[in-house]
Amino acid sequence: MTERTLSGIGVTPLSGVGTVVWYRPDADLPEPPAPEDVDEDAELARFEDARAAAEDELEAERERTAERVGEEEAAVFDAHVQFLNDPQITDGVTDAIEGGLPAEHAVQETFSEFVEQFENMGGRMGERADDLRDVRDRLVRVLSDGERVDLSSLPEGSVVVAERLTPSDTAQLDPERVAGFVTVTGGRTSHAAIFARSLALPAIVGVGEELQSVEDGAEVVVDGESGDLVVDPTDERKEAAAAAADVDVRHESVETADGVDIEVAANIGTLADLGPAVDRGADGVGLFRTEFLFLDRESPPDEDEQYEAYVEALESFDGGRVVVRTLDIGGDKPVPYLDLPDEENPFLGERGIRRSLGPDADLFETQVRALLRAAASADGANLSVMLPLVSTVEELRAGRERFESVAADLDADGVANELPEFGIMVETPAAAFMADQFAPHVDFFSIGTNDLAQYVMAAERGNERVSELGDYRQPAVLRAIDATVSAAEGEDCWVGMCGEMAGDPDLTELLVGLGLDELSMSAVTVPQVKAAVTETDTADARELAERVLQADTKAEVAEILTLEL
Ligand code: PEP
Ligand code: MG
Repeated sequence: MTERTLSGIGVTPLSGVGTVVWYRPDADLPEPPAPEDVDEDAELARFEDARAAAEDELEAERERTAERVGEEEAAVFDAHVQFLNDPQITDGVTDAIEGGLPAEHAVQETFSEFVEQFENMGGRMGERADDLRDVRDRLVRVLSDGERVDLSSLPEGSVVVAERLTPSDTAQLDPERVAGFVTVTGGRTSHAAIFARSLALPAIVGVGEELQSVEDGAEVVVDGESGDLVVDPTDERKEAAAAAADVDVRHESVETADGVDIEVAANIGTLADLGPAVDRGADGVGLFRTEFLFLDRESPPDEDEQYEAYVEALESFDGGRVVVRTLDIGGDKPVPYLDLPDEENPFLGERGIRRSLGPDADLFETQVRALLRAAASADGANLSVMLPLVSTVEELRAGRERFESVAADLDADGVANELPEFGIMVETPAAAFMADQFAPHVDFFSIGTNDLAQYVMAAERGNERVSELGDYRQPAVLRAIDATVSAAEGEDCWVGMCGEMAGDPDLTELLVGLGLDELSMSAVTVPQVKAAVTETDTADARELAERVLQADTKAEVAEILTLEL
């Protein structure tokens, strides 16, 4: 048998080897009876009963997910309950039943119309279509007495293959037994992708209809990094994937071959990400994206809830630094209850520190109070805070003054607090150009290459049409990084990186050569980057960086680094 490769979007940089189990949750409904044969009252009652039963199931799944994955991930089930009880949708179902359809057909028809509407909206709203579909399929299954396919007790080594996986589906997957999953549809930020990252499961989404040609029981390698699904893999391929999966986890901090310490930390969004970060050997947290504490809920977390979240992160690492980024709302991170303005170019609009010093000043104050208190907790000395999307020295000063004035208020009230280590993200060209002016005012920089690449190259992140251009391996982006690190030299200011680039082990030597002190990434690649650090010699790395900085194209950068583009 010769191997063949299908391509999709890899969403976790992990590999898995296993056997395909096709998951097809729902077969088509049979043709409905003639309207005159439908007992309207009986069908309305069946719908009400099904709605109640579905709500009970959702409550139970919510609890299970909160336990196994995390409170924030479990919040998706609240959204499902809302859809289940949304009067616009339920009135639609009732109308369809009154129009002569049995309950399951009425549900199928009404929900499908809403699914289509959401899909047409695209973007994040489009991704909500998966939630609606999930609620629809659940109701149809309850109404047609369908058996729930049990994703939680699959044979060990299963690779789940499906048209799509809804949040309830992914929540059932047991990472101990499942070797990965692959779907026909889906994007990098779909719920399924986010769950895959939280559970550290190899996963590929968006393979397309070609995936239907892969048969149940086929042996496959899921390469969640390249997005390649290899069917009927050769023995060498399987061994390589197994070896990649079997990477050595180092729980101790690492240094280069010539003895220079490099901190290797994890990026987290929710507290559920702490477990994988510790398990994969992260030294600490290099980026806590606190806006995730504010998403998928009805109202913002209060000061105590935030305080507890920061303290829990600090307690998870034995002396490791935890860098908390203040709210970065706006851009591609909408928060429904904040009623953000409709902007033509949200990435160039009111985002990050701009909102914290403007319309979200109250939210910012609450967060600052929680952070100052957390800095005074038992492990608080390891807390660092940084401001997102800073582009002027005034913003940095204003942000810092906010910390100082809130600390004075807390002192006046006799509340224990400390000023934590203070830094900024360098993710705008303005911050990179002005890094020498910023450096004396901060303890550290953390370079956010996701935004830095987008703004340096004027290529929207996430827009596939310009993804070649917005690549962090573009010479202009590398020069912006170099300018930032060089500006901090001689100042008491360490420099880290927390964009996706930091987690690319093929670039570790270059980043050490450019002078980065810390690299922070999604937990899954921590072991590979730690291994790469130990193999790096800083003199060689510097020489490599100098050559790369002379390159005039991305292709030349890749050639020097012997990378495949
Ligand atoms: C970045 O921009 O590189 C970054 C780490 O921040 P985020 O991806 O959260 O915008
Ligand atoms: Mg950013």
